Amino acid sequence: MLTDNWIANRWVPARSGATDDIIDPATGNVIGAVASSDAADVDAAVAAAQAAFGDWSARTPRERSEVLHRVADVIADNIEELSALESRNVGKPVSIIEFEMDLTVDNWRFFASAGRFLEGRAAGEYMEGYTSMIRRDPLGVVGSIAPWNYPLNMATWKLGPALAAGNTVVLKPSELTPYTALRLAELLADVLPPGVLNVVCGQGETAGVALVEHPEVAMVSLTGSVAAGRAVASAASNSLKRVHLELGGKAPVIVFDDADIDAVVECLHAASFYNSGQDCTAPCRIIAGARVYDDLVSSLSASVASVVVGDPTDPATEMGPVVSAEQLRRVAGFVDRAREAGAEVTVGGSVRAGGGYFYEPSVVVGVGQASEIVQREVFGPVITVQNAADEETALNWANDCDYGLAASVWTRDVGRAMRMAKGLKFGTVWVNDHIPIISEMPHGGFKQSGYGKDMSLYAVEHYTELKHVMIKH
Ligand code: NAD
Repeated sequence: MLTDNWIANRWVPARSGATDDIIDPATGNVIGAVASSDAADVDAAVAAAQAAFGDWSARTPRERSEVLHRVADVIADNIEELSALESRNVGKPVSIIEFEMDLTVDNWRFFASAGRFLEGRAAGEYMEGYTSMIRRDPLGVVGSIAPWNYPLNMATWKLGPALAAGNTVVLKPSELTPYTALRLAELLADVLPPGVLNVVCGQGETAGVALVEHPEVAMVSLTGSVAAGRAVASAASNSLKRVHLELGGKAPVIVFDDADIDAVVECLHAASFYNSGQDCTAPCRIIAGARVYDDLVSSLSASVASVVVGDPTDPATEMGPVVSAEQLRRVAGFVDRAREAGAEVTVGGSVRAGGGYFYEPSVVVGVGQASEIVQREVFGPVITVQNAADEETALNWANDCDYGLAASVWTRDVGRAMRMAKGLKFGTVWVNDHIPIISEMPHGGFKQSGYGKDMSLYAVEHYTELKHVMIKH
Protein backbone atom coordinates (compact mmCIF):
# COMPACT_ATOMS: atom_id res chain seq x y z
CA MET A 1 0.00 0.00 0.00
CA LEU A 2 1.04 3.62 -0.53
CA THR A 3 2.57 5.00 2.67
CA ASP A 4 5.61 7.19 1.92
CA ASN A 5 6.45 10.45 0.20
CA TRP A 6 7.55 10.41 -3.45
CA ILE A 7 10.77 12.37 -3.89
CA ALA A 8 13.04 12.22 -6.96
CA ASN A 9 11.13 9.16 -8.21
CA ARG A 10 11.70 7.15 -5.04
CA TRP A 11 9.60 6.27 -1.99
CA VAL A 12 10.93 8.11 1.07
CA PRO A 13 9.33 7.81 4.52
CA ALA A 14 8.80 10.92 6.65
CA ARG A 15 12.08 11.55 8.50
CA SER A 16 10.23 11.71 11.83
CA GLY A 17 8.49 8.40 11.07
CA ALA A 18 5.12 10.04 11.78
CA THR A 19 2.02 8.97 9.83
CA ASP A 20 -1.61 10.09 9.41
CA ASP A 21 -4.42 7.52 9.30
CA ILE A 22 -6.46 7.32 6.11
CA ILE A 23 -10.16 6.57 6.56
CA ASP A 24 -12.83 5.14 4.27
CA PRO A 25 -15.69 7.67 4.65
CA ALA A 26 -18.30 5.07 3.69
CA THR A 27 -17.49 2.97 6.77
CA GLY A 28 -15.40 5.15 9.06
CA ASN A 29 -12.74 2.40 9.08
CA VAL A 30 -9.00 3.09 8.90
CA ILE A 31 -7.69 1.78 5.58
CA GLY A 32 -4.06 2.84 5.79
CA ALA A 33 -1.51 5.32 7.08
CA VAL A 34 0.56 7.79 5.09
CA ALA A 35 3.65 9.87 5.87
CA SER A 36 2.94 12.92 8.03
CA SER A 37 5.71 15.18 6.81
CA ASP A 38 7.39 18.21 8.31
CA ALA A 39 9.89 20.85 7.20
CA ALA A 40 12.76 18.35 6.78
CA ASP A 41 10.75 16.29 4.29
CA VAL A 42 9.66 19.41 2.43
CA ASP A 43 13.33 20.51 2.25
CA ALA A 44 14.28 17.20 0.61
CA ALA A 45 11.45 17.46 -1.93
CA VAL A 46 12.23 21.09 -2.79
CA ALA A 47 15.90 20.20 -3.26
CA ALA A 48 14.90 17.42 -5.67
CA ALA A 49 12.63 19.81 -7.58
CA GLN A 50 15.40 22.42 -7.76
CA ALA A 51 17.85 19.86 -9.08
CA ALA A 52 15.40 18.87 -11.82
CA PHE A 53 14.50 22.42 -12.84
CA GLY A 54 17.52 23.11 -15.09
CA ASP A 55 16.91 20.18 -17.42
CA TRP A 56 13.10 20.36 -17.41
CA SER A 57 12.94 24.12 -18.04
CA ALA A 58 15.53 23.85 -20.83
CA ARG A 59 13.44 21.39 -22.82
CA THR A 60 11.55 22.71 -25.80
CA PRO A 61 7.77 23.09 -25.54
CA ARG A 62 7.44 20.16 -27.93
CA GLU A 63 9.60 17.92 -25.74
CA ARG A 64 7.63 18.80 -22.59
CA SER A 65 4.40 18.40 -24.50
CA GLU A 66 5.32 14.87 -25.55
CA VAL A 67 6.08 13.93 -21.94
CA LEU A 68 2.82 15.42 -20.64
CA HIS A 69 0.79 13.63 -23.31
CA ARG A 70 2.35 10.42 -21.97
CA VAL A 71 1.11 11.42 -18.50
CA ALA A 72 -2.41 11.57 -19.95
CA ASP A 73 -1.87 8.16 -21.59
CA VAL A 74 -0.71 6.64 -18.28
CA ILE A 75 -3.82 7.93 -16.50
CA ALA A 76 -6.07 6.66 -19.29
CA ASP A 77 -4.33 3.26 -19.21
CA ASN A 78 -4.76 2.97 -15.43
CA ILE A 79 -8.13 4.66 -15.10
CA GLU A 80 -9.88 1.74 -13.43
CA GLU A 81 -7.30 1.43 -10.69
CA LEU A 82 -7.16 5.20 -10.09
CA SER A 83 -10.96 5.43 -10.06
CA ALA A 84 -11.26 2.64 -7.50
CA LEU A 85 -8.60 4.24 -5.31
CA GLU A 86 -10.29 7.66 -5.48
CA SER A 87 -13.72 6.18 -4.88
CA ARG A 88 -12.55 4.38 -1.73
CA ASN A 89 -10.52 7.27 -0.33
CA VAL A 90 -13.19 9.98 -0.85
CA GLY A 91 -16.34 7.82 -0.68
CA LYS A 92 -17.30 8.72 -4.25
CA PRO A 93 -19.96 6.56 -5.92
CA VAL A 94 -18.58 4.54 -8.81
CA SER A 95 -21.47 5.99 -10.86
CA ILE A 96 -19.97 9.51 -10.81
CA ILE A 97 -16.21 8.92 -10.86
CA GLU A 98 -15.96 8.40 -14.61
CA PHE A 99 -16.74 12.06 -15.32
CA GLU A 100 -13.87 13.49 -13.28
CA MET A 101 -11.38 10.88 -14.45
CA ASP A 102 -12.27 11.62 -18.07
CA LEU A 103 -11.91 15.35 -17.35
CA THR A 104 -8.55 14.68 -15.72
CA VAL A 105 -7.21 12.95 -18.84
CA ASP A 106 -8.55 15.74 -21.03
CA ASN A 107 -7.04 18.39 -18.74
CA TRP A 108 -3.61 16.76 -19.07
CA ARG A 109 -3.95 16.59 -22.86
CA PHE A 110 -5.00 20.24 -22.95
CA PHE A 111 -2.07 21.40 -20.78
CA ALA A 112 0.34 19.21 -22.75
CA SER A 113 -0.64 21.13 -25.88
CA ALA A 114 -1.22 24.55 -24.30
CA GLY A 115 2.42 24.80 -23.23
CA ARG A 116 3.27 25.16 -26.93
CA PHE A 117 1.08 28.24 -27.34
CA LEU A 118 2.54 30.63 -24.78
CA GLU A 119 3.01 34.05 -26.28
CA GLY A 120 4.10 37.61 -25.64
CA ARG A 121 1.78 40.21 -27.16
CA ALA A 122 4.28 41.94 -29.44
CA ALA A 123 7.86 42.32 -30.59
CA GLY A 124 9.03 45.45 -32.35
CA GLU A 125 10.74 48.81 -32.18
CA TYR A 126 9.12 50.96 -29.50
CA MET A 127 12.16 53.25 -29.16
CA GLU A 128 14.34 54.26 -32.05
CA GLY A 129 17.40 52.02 -32.28
CA TYR A 130 15.98 49.28 -30.04
CA THR A 131 14.00 46.12 -30.56
CA SER A 132 11.86 44.88 -27.67
CA MET A 133 10.61 41.36 -27.22
CA ILE A 134 8.66 39.45 -24.61
CA ARG A 135 9.75 36.15 -23.07
CA ARG A 136 7.71 33.94 -20.78
CA ASP A 137 10.07 32.13 -18.42
CA PRO A 138 9.17 29.43 -15.89
CA LEU A 139 9.33 30.53 -12.26
CA GLY A 140 11.26 27.60 -10.74
CA VAL A 141 9.89 25.30 -8.04
CA VAL A 142 6.12 25.54 -7.53
CA GLY A 143 4.49 24.36 -4.30
CA SER A 144 1.02 22.95 -5.08
CA ILE A 145 -1.48 22.26 -2.30
CA ALA A 146 -4.63 20.28 -3.13
CA PRO A 147 -7.98 19.68 -1.39
CA TRP A 148 -9.88 16.44 -0.76
CA ASN A 149 -13.00 16.82 -2.89
CA TYR A 150 -11.49 15.91 -6.29
CA PRO A 151 -7.97 14.87 -5.26
CA LEU A 152 -6.54 13.76 -8.63
CA ASN A 153 -8.43 16.32 -10.70
CA MET A 154 -7.47 19.25 -8.46
CA ALA A 155 -3.85 18.03 -8.45
CA THR A 156 -4.04 17.99 -12.25
CA TRP A 157 -5.22 21.62 -12.37
CA LYS A 158 -2.10 22.55 -10.40
CA LEU A 159 0.46 20.21 -11.96
CA GLY A 160 -0.55 20.49 -15.62
CA PRO A 161 0.01 24.23 -16.16
CA ALA A 162 3.05 24.38 -13.86
CA LEU A 163 4.86 21.53 -15.65
CA ALA A 164 3.77 22.64 -19.13
CA ALA A 165 5.35 26.05 -18.51
CA GLY A 166 8.66 24.43 -17.49
CA ASN A 167 8.44 24.56 -13.69
CA THR A 168 9.06 21.64 -11.36
CA VAL A 169 6.61 20.86 -8.56
CA VAL A 170 6.27 19.72 -4.98
CA LEU A 171 2.65 18.63 -4.50
CA LYS A 172 1.05 18.32 -1.07
CA PRO A 173 -2.24 16.44 -1.37
CA SER A 174 -4.90 16.72 1.32
CA GLU A 175 -4.01 14.75 4.44
CA LEU A 176 -7.41 13.01 4.03
CA THR A 177 -7.01 11.89 0.40
CA PRO A 178 -3.39 11.37 -0.70
CA TYR A 179 -3.73 8.03 -2.51
CA THR A 180 -4.31 8.92 -6.16
CA ALA A 181 -1.57 11.57 -6.19
CA LEU A 182 0.91 9.06 -4.75
CA ARG A 183 -0.12 6.30 -7.13
CA LEU A 184 0.02 8.62 -10.14
CA ALA A 185 3.51 9.76 -9.19
CA GLU A 186 4.60 6.12 -8.94
CA LEU A 187 3.01 5.28 -12.30
CA LEU A 188 4.96 8.17 -13.84
CA ALA A 189 8.36 6.97 -12.63
CA ASP A 190 9.42 6.13 -16.20
CA VAL A 191 7.71 9.15 -17.73
CA LEU A 192 8.83 12.15 -15.70
CA PRO A 193 12.53 12.71 -14.91
CA PRO A 194 13.37 12.42 -11.18
CA GLY A 195 12.44 15.55 -9.23
CA VAL A 196 10.04 17.05 -11.79
CA LEU A 197 7.06 15.92 -9.69
CA ASN A 198 7.44 15.24 -5.96
CA VAL A 199 4.62 14.39 -3.58
CA VAL A 200 4.93 15.23 0.12
CA CYS A 201 2.04 14.16 2.36
CA GLY A 202 0.94 15.59 5.66
CA GLN A 203 -1.05 18.21 7.50
CA GLY A 204 -1.58 21.76 6.28
CA GLU A 205 -0.17 23.24 9.49
CA THR A 206 3.13 21.34 9.15
CA ALA A 207 3.91 20.15 5.60
CA GLY A 208 1.71 22.83 3.99
CA VAL A 209 3.15 25.71 5.98
CA ALA A 210 6.72 24.48 5.41
CA LEU A 211 6.10 24.44 1.66
CA VAL A 212 4.59 27.93 1.63
CA GLU A 213 7.42 29.37 3.74
CA HIS A 214 10.24 27.63 1.88
CA PRO A 215 12.62 30.26 0.48
CA GLU A 216 13.38 28.23 -2.67
CA VAL A 217 9.70 27.82 -3.62
CA ALA A 218 8.92 30.52 -6.18
CA MET A 219 5.14 30.20 -6.23
CA VAL A 220 2.41 28.53 -4.20
CA SER A 221 -0.85 27.33 -5.68
CA LEU A 222 -3.61 26.33 -3.27
CA THR A 223 -7.09 24.97 -3.80
CA GLY A 224 -8.89 24.90 -0.48
CA SER A 225 -10.90 26.88 2.03
CA VAL A 226 -10.88 30.65 2.43
CA ALA A 227 -9.20 30.23 5.82
CA ALA A 228 -6.32 28.27 4.29
CA GLY A 229 -6.12 30.81 1.44
CA ARG A 230 -5.73 33.68 3.90
CA ALA A 231 -3.06 31.79 5.85
CA VAL A 232 -1.14 30.96 2.66
CA ALA A 233 -1.34 34.51 1.27
CA SER A 234 -0.18 35.91 4.59
CA ALA A 235 2.73 33.46 4.97
CA ALA A 236 3.78 33.96 1.35
CA SER A 237 3.95 37.72 1.84
CA ASN A 238 7.19 37.36 3.81
CA SER A 239 9.04 36.15 0.73
CA LEU A 240 6.67 37.91 -1.73
CA LYS A 241 6.27 34.66 -3.66
CA ARG A 242 3.50 34.43 -6.21
CA VAL A 243 0.23 32.98 -4.92
CA HIS A 244 -2.56 31.28 -6.85
CA LEU A 245 -5.72 30.71 -4.80
CA GLU A 246 -8.81 28.72 -5.74
CA LEU A 247 -11.01 28.93 -2.66
CA GLY A 248 -14.57 28.32 -1.58
CA GLY A 249 -17.84 29.05 -3.32
CA LYS A 250 -21.53 29.56 -2.62
CA ALA A 251 -23.07 29.43 -6.06
CA PRO A 252 -26.43 31.17 -6.59
CA VAL A 253 -28.96 29.76 -9.05
CA ILE A 254 -31.34 32.51 -10.19
CA VAL A 255 -34.56 31.05 -11.51
CA PHE A 256 -36.79 33.60 -13.22
CA ASP A 257 -40.52 33.15 -13.68
CA ASP A 258 -40.08 32.24 -17.37
CA ALA A 259 -37.51 29.48 -16.67
CA ASP A 260 -37.95 25.84 -17.64
CA ILE A 261 -38.61 24.50 -14.12
CA ASP A 262 -38.26 20.84 -15.11
CA ALA A 263 -34.80 21.57 -16.48
CA VAL A 264 -33.85 23.44 -13.29
CA VAL A 265 -34.98 20.55 -11.09
CA GLU A 266 -33.22 17.98 -13.24
CA CYS A 267 -29.99 19.99 -13.11
CA LEU A 268 -30.14 20.53 -9.33
CA HIS A 269 -30.92 16.86 -8.66
CA ALA A 270 -27.69 15.93 -10.40
CA ALA A 271 -25.38 18.87 -9.69
CA SER A 272 -26.26 19.95 -6.14
CA PHE A 273 -25.74 16.46 -4.72
CA TYR A 274 -22.92 15.40 -7.00
CA ASN A 275 -19.92 14.46 -4.83
CA SER A 276 -22.25 14.92 -1.81
CA GLY A 277 -22.39 18.65 -2.51
CA GLN A 278 -18.65 18.92 -1.83
CA ASP A 279 -18.00 20.98 -4.91
CA CYS A 280 -16.89 24.61 -4.89
CA THR A 281 -19.30 25.43 -7.76
CA ALA A 282 -22.21 23.31 -6.45
CA PRO A 283 -25.56 25.03 -7.09
CA CYS A 284 -26.63 25.53 -3.48
CA ARG A 285 -28.29 28.96 -3.16
CA ILE A 286 -31.49 28.94 -5.20
CA ILE A 287 -33.12 32.35 -5.71
CA ALA A 288 -36.53 31.87 -7.33
CA GLY A 289 -39.00 34.32 -8.86
CA ALA A 290 -42.20 34.84 -6.87
CA ARG A 291 -44.45 33.16 -9.46
CA VAL A 292 -42.38 29.94 -9.69
CA TYR A 293 -41.23 29.70 -6.07
CA ASP A 294 -43.97 27.34 -4.79
CA ASP A 295 -43.83 25.01 -7.80
CA LEU A 296 -40.05 24.91 -7.67
CA VAL A 297 -39.91 24.10 -3.95
CA SER A 298 -42.43 21.29 -4.29
CA SER A 299 -40.96 19.62 -7.39
CA LEU A 300 -37.40 20.12 -6.15
CA SER A 301 -38.22 18.59 -2.75
CA ALA A 302 -39.85 15.57 -4.44
CA SER A 303 -36.86 15.13 -6.71
CA VAL A 304 -34.31 15.49 -3.90
CA ALA A 305 -36.19 12.90 -1.83
CA SER A 306 -35.48 10.43 -4.63
CA VAL A 307 -31.67 10.88 -4.69
CA VAL A 308 -30.24 7.39 -4.14
CA VAL A 309 -27.84 7.52 -1.19
CA GLY A 310 -25.73 4.57 -0.16
CA ASP A 311 -22.76 2.30 -0.72
CA PRO A 312 -20.36 4.02 -3.17
CA THR A 313 -19.50 0.67 -4.77
CA ASP A 314 -23.16 0.05 -5.80
CA PRO A 315 -23.62 1.33 -9.39
CA ALA A 316 -27.16 2.49 -8.50
CA THR A 317 -25.89 4.90 -5.82
CA GLU A 318 -26.07 8.57 -6.78
CA MET A 319 -24.65 10.04 -3.58
CA GLY A 320 -22.18 8.66 -1.05
CA PRO A 321 -20.93 9.97 2.30
CA VAL A 322 -19.23 13.27 3.05
CA VAL A 323 -15.50 12.98 3.47
CA SER A 324 -15.00 12.88 7.25
CA ALA A 325 -16.63 12.85 10.66
CA GLU A 326 -15.66 16.51 11.04
CA GLN A 327 -17.32 17.43 7.74
CA LEU A 328 -20.46 15.52 8.77
CA ARG A 329 -20.66 17.48 12.04
CA ARG A 330 -20.12 20.72 10.13
CA VAL A 331 -22.91 20.03 7.64
CA ALA A 332 -25.35 18.90 10.34
CA GLY A 333 -24.52 21.99 12.41
CA PHE A 334 -25.53 24.35 9.59
CA VAL A 335 -28.92 22.68 9.13
CA ASP A 336 -29.61 22.35 12.86
CA ARG A 337 -28.86 26.03 13.47
CA ALA A 338 -31.01 27.11 10.50
CA ARG A 339 -33.91 25.02 11.81
CA GLU A 340 -33.51 26.51 15.29
CA ALA A 341 -33.61 29.98 13.69
CA GLY A 342 -36.99 29.18 12.10
CA ALA A 343 -36.15 27.71 8.71
CA GLU A 344 -38.19 24.82 7.32
CA VAL A 345 -36.46 21.67 6.05
CA THR A 346 -38.71 20.30 3.29
CA VAL A 347 -36.67 17.14 2.77
CA GLY A 348 -33.68 15.53 4.53
CA GLY A 349 -32.13 17.41 7.42
CA SER A 350 -30.54 14.51 9.32
CA VAL A 351 -27.46 12.39 9.64
CA ARG A 352 -28.22 8.95 8.21
CA ALA A 353 -28.18 6.16 10.79
CA GLY A 354 -25.62 3.36 10.42
CA GLY A 355 -21.89 3.49 9.73
CA GLY A 356 -20.00 6.01 7.64
CA TYR A 357 -20.40 9.76 7.24
CA PHE A 358 -23.75 10.04 5.43
CA TYR A 359 -26.00 13.11 5.47
CA GLU A 360 -29.42 13.16 3.83
CA PRO A 361 -29.85 15.30 0.69
CA SER A 362 -31.63 18.36 2.07
CA VAL A 363 -33.67 21.38 0.97
CA VAL A 364 -34.04 24.30 3.38
CA VAL A 365 -36.56 27.15 2.86
CA GLY A 366 -37.70 30.16 4.90
CA VAL A 367 -34.16 31.48 5.25
CA GLY A 368 -33.19 35.16 5.38
CA GLN A 369 -30.54 36.64 3.12
CA ALA A 370 -28.33 37.41 6.13
CA SER A 371 -28.64 33.91 7.63
CA GLU A 372 -25.55 31.78 8.11
CA ILE A 373 -26.80 28.98 5.85
CA VAL A 374 -27.20 31.46 2.95
CA GLN A 375 -23.94 33.31 3.53
CA ARG A 376 -21.46 30.55 4.39
CA GLU A 377 -20.23 27.56 2.42
CA VAL A 378 -21.82 24.35 3.79
CA PHE A 379 -19.90 22.06 1.39
CA GLY A 380 -22.41 19.25 1.79
CA PRO A 381 -25.70 17.98 0.30
CA VAL A 382 -27.77 20.97 1.41
CA ILE A 383 -29.47 23.64 -0.69
CA THR A 384 -31.55 26.67 0.27
CA VAL A 385 -34.39 28.23 -1.73
CA GLN A 386 -35.28 31.92 -1.41
CA ASN A 387 -38.18 33.87 -2.91
CA ALA A 388 -37.13 37.08 -4.73
CA ALA A 389 -39.74 39.64 -5.75
CA ASP A 390 -37.94 41.01 -8.81
CA GLU A 391 -34.81 40.96 -10.98
CA GLU A 392 -33.01 43.62 -8.97
CA THR A 393 -33.55 41.78 -5.68
CA ALA A 394 -32.37 38.51 -7.25
CA LEU A 395 -29.18 40.11 -8.54
CA ASN A 396 -28.50 41.89 -5.25
CA TRP A 397 -29.00 38.73 -3.21
CA ALA A 398 -26.81 36.71 -5.57
CA ASN A 399 -23.98 39.23 -5.25
CA ASP A 400 -24.49 39.79 -1.51
CA CYS A 401 -22.03 37.09 -0.48
CA ASP A 402 -18.28 36.98 0.21
CA TYR A 403 -17.77 34.28 -2.42
CA GLY A 404 -17.60 34.82 -6.18
CA LEU A 405 -16.78 31.54 -7.92
CA ALA A 406 -19.79 30.53 -10.01
CA ALA A 407 -23.45 31.40 -10.62
CA SER A 408 -26.26 30.46 -12.97
CA VAL A 409 -29.25 32.25 -14.45
CA TRP A 410 -32.32 30.47 -15.76
CA THR A 411 -34.53 32.44 -18.14
CA ARG A 412 -35.79 32.40 -21.73
CA ASP A 413 -35.28 36.18 -22.02
CA VAL A 414 -31.94 36.80 -23.76
CA GLY A 415 -31.77 40.43 -22.70
CA ARG A 416 -32.25 39.53 -19.06
CA ALA A 417 -29.66 36.76 -19.33
CA MET A 418 -27.15 39.27 -20.71
CA ARG A 419 -27.92 41.84 -17.98
CA MET A 420 -27.42 39.20 -15.31
CA ALA A 421 -24.21 37.88 -16.91
CA LYS A 422 -22.84 41.41 -16.75
CA GLY A 423 -24.04 42.16 -13.23
CA LEU A 424 -23.08 38.91 -11.47
CA LYS A 425 -19.72 39.16 -9.68
CA PHE A 426 -18.62 35.58 -10.24
CA GLY A 427 -15.81 33.92 -12.19
CA THR A 428 -18.22 31.70 -14.16
CA VAL A 429 -21.82 32.49 -15.14
CA TRP A 430 -23.92 29.79 -16.78
CA VAL A 431 -27.18 30.55 -18.57
CA ASN A 432 -29.81 27.76 -18.46
CA ASP A 433 -27.38 25.25 -17.00
CA HIS A 434 -25.07 24.92 -14.02
CA ILE A 435 -21.83 22.91 -13.65
CA PRO A 436 -20.30 22.04 -17.08
CA ILE A 437 -16.59 22.82 -17.25
CA ILE A 438 -14.13 22.55 -20.10
CA SER A 439 -10.35 22.52 -20.31
CA GLU A 440 -10.15 25.51 -22.69
CA MET A 441 -12.02 27.94 -20.43
CA PRO A 442 -10.80 29.49 -17.15
CA HIS A 443 -12.17 28.47 -13.76
CA GLY A 444 -11.53 30.80 -10.85
CA GLY A 445 -13.00 33.19 -8.38
CA PHE A 446 -13.82 36.80 -7.69
CA LYS A 447 -13.76 38.22 -4.16
CA GLN A 448 -12.98 35.68 -1.40
CA SER A 449 -13.11 32.78 -3.84
CA GLY A 450 -9.51 33.66 -4.66
CA TYR A 451 -7.42 34.80 -7.61
CA GLY A 452 -5.57 33.18 -10.50
CA LYS A 453 -7.37 30.89 -12.94
CA ASP A 454 -7.35 27.11 -13.31
CA MET A 455 -7.57 25.41 -16.71
CA SER A 456 -7.26 27.39 -19.98
CA LEU A 457 -4.22 29.21 -21.34
CA TYR A 458 -4.68 31.82 -18.60
CA ALA A 459 -3.67 29.19 -16.05
CA VAL A 460 -0.48 28.31 -17.92
CA GLU A 461 0.40 32.01 -18.20
CA HIS A 462 0.05 32.43 -14.44
CA TYR A 463 2.85 29.90 -13.96
CA THR A 464 5.28 32.02 -16.00
CA GLU A 465 7.31 35.15 -15.40
CA LEU A 466 6.99 37.84 -18.06
CA LYS A 467 10.31 39.27 -19.19
CA HIS A 468 11.01 42.25 -21.44
CA VAL A 469 14.22 41.90 -23.48
CA MET A 470 15.41 45.18 -25.11
CA ILE A 471 18.11 45.00 -27.75
CA LYS A 472 20.08 48.09 -28.88
CA HIS A 473 21.16 48.04 -32.51
P1 NAD B 1 -8.62 23.03 3.34
O1 NAD B 1 -8.41 24.49 3.22
O2 NAD B 1 -8.91 22.47 4.66
O3 NAD B 1 -7.34 22.26 2.81
C1 NAD B 1 -6.87 22.39 1.49
C2 NAD B 1 -5.41 22.04 1.47
O4 NAD B 1 -4.69 23.10 2.12
C3 NAD B 1 -5.06 20.75 2.21
O5 NAD B 1 -4.04 20.08 1.51
C4 NAD B 1 -4.55 21.28 3.55
O6 NAD B 1 -3.66 20.40 4.18
C5 NAD B 1 -3.86 22.55 3.13
N1 NAD B 1 -3.74 23.59 4.15
C6 NAD B 1 -4.63 23.92 5.12
N2 NAD B 1 -4.15 24.95 5.85
C7 NAD B 1 -2.95 25.29 5.32
C8 NAD B 1 -1.97 26.28 5.64
N3 NAD B 1 -2.13 27.14 6.64
N4 NAD B 1 -0.85 26.36 4.89
C9 NAD B 1 -0.67 25.51 3.87
N5 NAD B 1 -1.54 24.53 3.53
C10 NAD B 1 -2.68 24.43 4.24
O7 NAD B 1 -9.73 22.69 2.26
P2 NAD B 1 -10.42 21.29 2.06
O8 NAD B 1 -11.34 21.14 3.23
O9 NAD B 1 -9.41 20.24 1.75
O10 NAD B 1 -11.26 21.55 0.72
C11 NAD B 1 -12.49 22.12 0.74
C12 NAD B 1 -12.39 23.59 0.35
O11 NAD B 1 -11.74 23.70 -0.92
C13 NAD B 1 -13.75 24.20 0.18
O12 NAD B 1 -13.77 25.49 0.76
C14 NAD B 1 -13.89 24.29 -1.33
O13 NAD B 1 -14.78 25.28 -1.78
C15 NAD B 1 -12.51 24.56 -1.76
N6 NAD B 1 -12.34 24.19 -3.18
C16 NAD B 1 -12.21 25.19 -4.09
C17 NAD B 1 -12.08 24.89 -5.44
C18 NAD B 1 -11.93 25.97 -6.47
O14 NAD B 1 -11.64 25.65 -7.62
N7 NAD B 1 -12.12 27.23 -6.14
C19 NAD B 1 -12.05 23.56 -5.85
C20 NAD B 1 -12.18 22.56 -4.89
C21 NAD B 1 -12.31 22.90 -3.54
